[in-house]
Amino acid sequence: MAGLEDLYREIILDHYRSPRNRGELDTPPAHRVEGFNPLCGDEIIVYLQVNDAGIIDDVAIAGQGCSISQSSASMMSVAIKGKTIEQARKLIVAFKGLMSIHENDIGGDGSETALGIDLAPKSDPSDTASGTDDIKLGDLEALRGVVKFPIRIKCATLSWNTLAQALDEATVA
Ligand code: ZN
Repeated sequence: MAGLEDLYREIILDHYRSPRNRGELDTPPAHRVEGFNPLCGDEIIVYLQVNDAGIIDDVAIAGQGCSISQSSASMMSVAIKGKTIEQARKLIVAFKGLMSIHENDIGGDGSETALGIDLAPKSDPSDTASGTDDIKLGDLEALRGVVKFPIRIKCATLSWNTLAQALDEATVA
C-alpha cells in the first residue's frame, strides 16, 4: 500500500510543479469563473471555451493555493479538454463520488451551498450510477487519499465547483 501512496504523491506533486493548461483565455469567447476556498486560501480561476457543438475545445487554469487544490485543477483541465459539457458534468459527479460527496455529511456547518457545492445533481439520480461507467478519472485517482482529511476535500473540489459554475455559464450563453 505504501507503494501506491508514493505513486499518488508523485502524481500530485507532478501536477503541482508542472501544472497543465496553465494560463488564461480571451473572454469572450471563453468564460471566466473564479473560485475561492477561504478555509485554505486556495484560489482557482477557470477559463472555459465551449464550441457550437458543445465541446470544451479549450480550458485554462489560473490562481494559486495548496498542492491539493492546484494539482486537482491541473488534472481536471486534462480530463475535461475535448470532452462534451455532458461528459464534463459526469466527471464532476464521478470526482465528487471519489471525494465521498453524495450525502450531506461534509462539515455539517451548512456552508456547502455557500461554497457552491451542489450536493444534489440536477440530472436524473440514476445517472450517477450508470453514467459514470464510461468515465475514467485517470490521474485524479491519486487524490482519493484526500478523503481521509475532510478539510482538504474542499481544496480538492474547489476547481470542480468552479468548473460547474463555468459550465452553467457556457450553457446559458
Ligand atoms: Zn488547499
